[in-house]
This record gives sequence, structure tokens and C-alpha cells, in this order.
Amino acid sequence: KAKAPDKWVRSTCGYCGVGCGMYIGVKNGEAVYSKGDPLHPVNMGTLCPKGLSEHQMVRADNRVATPLLRRDGELQPASWNEVFTHTSNTFKRIQEQHGKGAVAVVSTGQLLTEEFYALGKFVQLGLGTNNYDGNTTLCMASAVMGYKQSFGSDGPVGCYEDFEKADVIMLIGANIADNHPILKLHIAKNKKTRGRKPTIIVIDPRKSKTSQMADIFVPLKPRSDLALINGLCYIIMEQGWEDEKFIRERTNGYKAFRKHIMANYPPQEVANITGIDVKELYNLARIYANADAAMSAWTMGVNQSSIGTDTVSAICNLALITGNLGREGAAPMSITGQCNAMGTREFGFTSSIPGYRNYASESDRREFANIIGVPEELIPTKRGYAYPQIIDAINRGEIKALWVVATNPLVSYPDQNGLREALKKLDLLVVQDAFMSDTAQIADVVFAAATWSEKEGCYTNSERRCNYAKKAIEPLGESKADFYIVKEFSTYFEGKHDLLFKELHTPRDAFEEIQRVSKGRLCDYSGMSYELMEELGGIQWPCNEKAPKGTKRLYGEDMPCPTPDGKAQLLPVEWVPLSEMSCRELPLILNTGRTVEQFHTRTKTGTIGILDNLAPEAWVDLNPKDAARLKVKSGDRIALSGNRGRVENVIVKVSATVREGNIFVPFHFNEQLINNITIPEFDPKSFEPNYKQCAVQLHSE
Ligand code: SF4
Repeated sequence: KAKAPDKWVRSTCGYCGVGCGMYIGVKNGEAVYSKGDPLHPVNMGTLCPKGLSEHQMVRADNRVATPLLRRDGELQPASWNEVFTHTSNTFKRIQEQHGKGAVAVVSTGQLLTEEFYALGKFVQLGLGTNNYDGNTTLCMASAVMGYKQSFGSDGPVGCYEDFEKADVIMLIGANIADNHPILKLHIAKNKKTRGRKPTIIVIDPRKSKTSQMADIFVPLKPRSDLALINGLCYIIMEQGWEDEKFIRERTNGYKAFRKHIMANYPPQEVANITGIDVKELYNLARIYANADAAMSAWTMGVNQSSIGTDTVSAICNLALITGNLGREGAAPMSITGQCNAMGTREFGFTSSIPGYRNYASESDRREFANIIGVPEELIPTKRGYAYPQIIDAINRGEIKALWVVATNPLVSYPDQNGLREALKKLDLLVVQDAFMSDTAQIADVVFAAATWSEKEGCYTNSERRCNYAKKAIEPLGESKADFYIVKEFSTYFEGKHDLLFKELHTPRDAFEEIQRVSKGRLCDYSGMSYELMEELGGIQWPCNEKAPKGTKRLYGEDMPCPTPDGKAQLLPVEWVPLSEMSCRELPLILNTGRTVEQFHTRTKTGTIGILDNLAPEAWVDLNPKDAARLKVKSGDRIALSGNRGRVENVIVKVSATVREGNIFVPFHFNEQLINNITIPEFDPKSFEPNYKQCAVQLHSE
């Protein structure tokens, strides 16, 4: 009883894009307990190990409690006035000498929507630089661009309930057992909901934990997913299994699409590319095409590829030719990585103007400017540099100052040696974070941010569900919620606070502006309120007068796509081979990914004992045949090297979970930094890195 919380505060998990509802137990003003919300429709009371221990990160040893300023080579505590004065003076000097774009900002899907909105407004309209992007480019940008190509707008089209209603669930490059574990609850409900078990297909070069629940596991060769999907489309059209009525009434481009597929993706050719035999390809195509409702869901295995955008469109093509859109259990569904990957997409002011508006559209710019009461000329007419372009521009000396918000590129960015060289060229590196990340440690200035449970606002999850996260405790030390950091920092730039934030006193005010900005748009929040979100367990956009409790699925029969004629686009997309193939010197292909116990670069989870004990260091999964050839066994420590760098002291796990010639290493760990080796190759449409494949060799230690 002595340990029992004084009160329970309803909130939302601040880790991944599943968006679980939870309660924070508070005692004597501290977060002491986390438990699942049994009434929340996403998780029904269950949490994964990260969610269950989330309160432990709030007062972790690596929290930043005061602003820091580098003096005499060392980061030292400073007042907010000192760090804001130093940073604003340096930004102004750099912008006067080198132009507005010489200051760049990289933020994150970890912020609350209100914070991200405030930050985007200040960066784009206050600082006047459009060289602004989020770490979402490292995980979800291909899904964004793929959806835009296929449906005319970003926005996951399905919902978690579709996992409960589908006959066929096809998971492509999606290890949900590790990365989105609560989604398995919805798959588990499927049999109960429908009275019969769905067919679960898992497509992955690696036999992940998720593959263990598969009826059919498809161990394709690395990065051959686009060819596989095109091959399934070939067989479906060859066999006449396509949904002609749906294609005719709801899509454009079928003729060119069919011609492209039938000319280039015959089954034997696809079998050669993917390593999946022709008979199995026919089996897969038959099962998918003949389902009453087929759901395909993907995550980083698809997105983190130099052909990620087109692979997303290939998945959409497959759904479209079989009529799997806008119905229960029928959706091509992207699963997001971070707690607020969606909120940043809708209102972030990075790849689009808030409310899914286009920079290039004069009417979109005017409409947005009028709603928020700023001169139209302030709105940029084009997107600035994406994250990798910002790093390149730093390298060229074009960008002189970088403000990094709640992300840790010194672990998460590919080709770390290249990144470190670039960051050395900066005049000023500002890091705004709640944790003393690897990147914060090399910063010139650190803005001490509050974290989950210390602030209020919304996260929007993978199924477009906007969830309310309530403030439960006061921020640690002098740290401040990101919303207030941005608002206060803006006062150091003449006239900017009054222009942008005069009426925005609290996150709730920002949310109400977001509602006005989104009214009538696809991502319509106008019918939401914090209170309604609490009552319903989050609300899926669009939510307005027509749909007062939100919308489960996009593009049903009564909802045209946001394209000129309301139809989806069938796109001929092309598989491209790996640019860095294995060879005699580098005989193995590296795949990277995650494990359930850790989150991203471990700034949040690395100090939580139970999580760190379960997954304390990186490992390499190595096929038994490769292990025998290299004369190593489980428990040995080895080094890995590739064309860009080396990683030492990685423990071997001999395991048939990886194909011969392939290895897997999780990316979370700064001690064994696998991004020393990954390739700085990016999707030309989304700018997402190709994290999943590059050539390496092993060295016994
Ligand atoms: Fe949090 Fe994701 Fe785990 Fe749910 S599944 S508790 S949202 S980390």
C-alpha cells in the first residue's frame, strides 16, 4: 500500500507508432508505474516491455535537467537566457552572412503534434529557412511518397481492425513481433471475429519472430520485394483473377501498368530475382487474389530502401487490381515507427504545408496563410532540403548551423564516418533533447527538454488515431516542454513571437489552430477535442461534422481518392538490383533492424535495467553454413567491416534465421555502431536511406 500511486493519469505510450493507451501511476509528484488502459481500442489493457517500464525513463540518469552551453571545450550548465541569447545571435549572424538557408533543422516523430506544429511554424516562418526535415525521413518517408503516388495523398488507408477482419494478412518486411508487438492482439482476435483463422503470409529475408506465426513464410532474397509483388500482379492478371469492376471504376493507368508487368515480370524471371520458386509464386498469388478481404502491411523492410517509394506503390498496385481497398480487412497499410510519425506528416511543415498542403500550390499557400494570419509571401514555395540533403549541404559548407530536436543522428544515420566529418564543419550544433544523447554530447548548446508524462498534447498512430497524452508530473529540473522552448526562443527574434504565437499560450491553443488548419482537408481534426479523445480512446482522422467519431478507413465507396478524378493510380514500377552486391572481399549482405526491448538509439531505453538486461548489446545472426566456413561459433566475438567502416566486438549468434550469405545486426547500440558500415544511398523520391542491404565481411577477434 505504501508504494501505491496517489493517482492514475490517463496517457498514451511515447515510444512506437502502435499508440497504446495507458495509465501513469503518480506518487509524490513522480511517475512510479505504467499500466495498460483496458478500455483503449488499440491495446485493450496490454503493453509491451517498453510501455510497461516507461515510467522508469522519466528520471533516468541520462536526463538533461538544465540547459547547457559549451565553454572552454566543455558543456556546462547555463541559464535559458544564456543559451537562447547565444543561439539566436549565432543564427542571426550566420543568416546575415550566408542566407536564411544556412541554418537547418532536423526534428523527430517523438514530439507531440502541437510541439511539432509550433516548431515547424517557427522554423519555416520565423527563422525563414526551409531546410527543415524530420528523422521520419529515416523511417516513413517512402510510405508517404508511395501513398502520394498511388492515392494522391499521404495517409495510411486502413486500420488495426482490418487485422481482425482480413482473410489474408500479408506482412512484408514487417517484424511486428519485435517492433509493433501489440498489433499481434488484433491478429489474434481475427479467428474469434470471423469464426475461422486467417492465412498469414510473412515475406522477409530473415526468419524473424513474426515469421513464427506465419502459415506461409516467404524467405525472399534481400531487397527483391518489389519484383515479388510485381510477379504476383503478373500471375493474377495472367490467370484473370483481377477485380475488373474495381479496376474500371476506381483506378487509372491499368493499360500501361499491365503492359509493363506482362513484359517484365514473368514468373520464372521473378523466381530468379527473389529465390522463390514459380510454384510458390502461383500459390501466393492465388491465395491473395481469391481472398474476400486481403490486407497487406509493411514497415521498415520496405521503406528503408533506395526503391522504397516504388515498392510501396507496388503493394498498392496489388491491392488495387484485386479490389482490396476501403473495405473491412482490405487495405495496403503502412505501419509507422515512432509514436507521432503521423502527426509530423500531417502538421509538421517539412515535406508539406500543414494539413497536407502543397508548397507549389498558390491556393494552398494562401489558404494556410489566411487561416493562421500571416502574410502569404512568408510561406515557402517549395520544400527545402530533406535530411540527407541537409547533411550533404553541411559537408559542402552551405549550411553552417544545425538544430537537432529529439533525435540522435550519431547512432541512427547511415555511414557514421561520413556524418561525423560533416558535423565537424558546423559553426554551431544545437541539440534539443530530454536525454544526453550521443549527439547532445558533441553539441555546442543543449536545450533541456521535458519528456513523456511531463507535458501534454497528442500523438497520432499508424491507423490515423489521434491519442491524447496528459501531463502527469512536472518537468525535471529546469527542463521545459518543447512547445514552450520553441515559443520562448521565438521571443529572441524580433516580432516573431507576436506574429506566430501571440494567441498560442498552451498546447491546447496550438491544437485548436491545428483543427482550423485541417478543417475540410483529408487529415481533418476539426471534430476532435482532448476530452473526446480521452472518452473514445483516440479518434481516427478525418473527424468532422460528417464523421464525428472519426473514420476507420480511407477511400471506401463513398470516399474518393484526393486525385483530380477521385481514382487511384496504378503505377508501373521497376525493381532495381542492389548497388552494393556481395563479392570475394565482402562476401556477406548485412541487414539491420530492431529488437523489442530497445527503442531506436537507446537514449530512452538504454538506462532501464529490465530492458537493458534483456538486450544489453548488439549481436550478429550468422547462418550455420557461413559460421562453419568462417570457423566461428555462438558466443564468439567478431568484428565486421565494409566499404565505409568497421564495428568491433560483436557477439555471434549462429542461427538459421538468416539465409546463407546474409547476416543481421540490430542498429540500436552505440558501442557496436552498425551504422558505421551502412550505405549512404537514398531513395530518390523519399530520400529514405537504404539501411537494409550492404556488403560486409567478418573478422575473428
Ligand atoms: Fe508502447 Fe509500442 Fe509497446 Fe504499445 S507496442 S506499449 S505503443 S512501445
